[in-house]
Amino acid sequence: MLTIRLNNGKEMPQIGLGVFRMHEEQAAIEAIKSAVGIGYRHIDTAAYYENEAAVGKAIAQSGLARETFFVTTKMWNDVQRNGVPMQAFEKSLQQLGFEYIDLYLVHWPVEGKVINTWHSMEKILQTGKVKSIGVSNHRICDLEAIKALGGTIPVVNQIELTPYFQQEELLAYCKANGIAVQAWGPLGSGKNNLLQEPALLRIAQKHGKSTAQVVLRWNLQRGVTPLPKSANPARQKENVNVFDFRLDEQDMKDIAKLETGKRQGFDPNCVDF
Ligand code: NAD
Repeated sequence: MLTIRLNNGKEMPQIGLGVFRMHEEQAAIEAIKSAVGIGYRHIDTAAYYENEAAVGKAIAQSGLARETFFVTTKMWNDVQRNGVPMQAFEKSLQQLGFEYIDLYLVHWPVEGKVINTWHSMEKILQTGKVKSIGVSNHRICDLEAIKALGGTIPVVNQIELTPYFQQEELLAYCKANGIAVQAWGPLGSGKNNLLQEPALLRIAQKHGKSTAQVVLRWNLQRGVTPLPKSANPARQKENVNVFDFRLDEQDMKDIAKLETGKRQGFDPNCVDF
């Protein structure tokens, strides 16, 4: 798996396995072990997904060294409102059964808490038990507020990003500020008909690939790290088999035209959950 270098010099594998909604522990362990067998080394979980323990067990059972993996987890919103961030972090660490976490993210920008939460994240970084800190679903205004503190710049902003919601402006801002972008729900979260989109079907046919592979390849060519979720070994394999072809300029232009301005998931402007 190829990696990209984060703004603190750490390496992050270019594709990660999303594990949202992998609820049942044994099934989650099997799904993650299958992905590891295929070559995934980057796993994206969150306290909110309630499967950190399964991620830790799958990695322990894989027989591979902990250092070969890049594991992300996230602080949930209630912690920012009423909790103790350091305790939440320690709990995630304990659930995972790890001595350190590769990347700890603020899951959503909670109104009025962005700055305080970032100060807490910096304290967590100082413990040495997390290699990198970053954010998720943060808008340019949130990132500007963090930047104005003059401290650590998030290594990553993990955002909803698909050909139907391309996040051009936020992506350009992140690139200009050395923040790597991860795409959540890259395949449309199974909710819209993204993978049946005629323009994508045409491009997929031209390259002898699936529409999922075209979408993932499009992310890579924009410098974005996609986090496709699948528990199905054949799909897991399909989703990383994207390093042997290249979308041409016309393909990229045709995909650019698919922007709808519509999100599939929650809006960071209205984080009341
Ligand atoms: P996704 O876009 O990865 O889509 C998953 C769906 O696509 C599943 O139904 C799966 O069966 C199907 N699928 C997977 N591979 C396929 C293939 N090759 N062909 C056809 N169908 C395929 O959706 P997601 O799970 O919502 O997002 C991915 C990951 O992003 C999550 O698991 C999670 O880790 C992360 N995420 C983060 C946030 C956040 O707020 N930070 C929000 C949502 C998701």
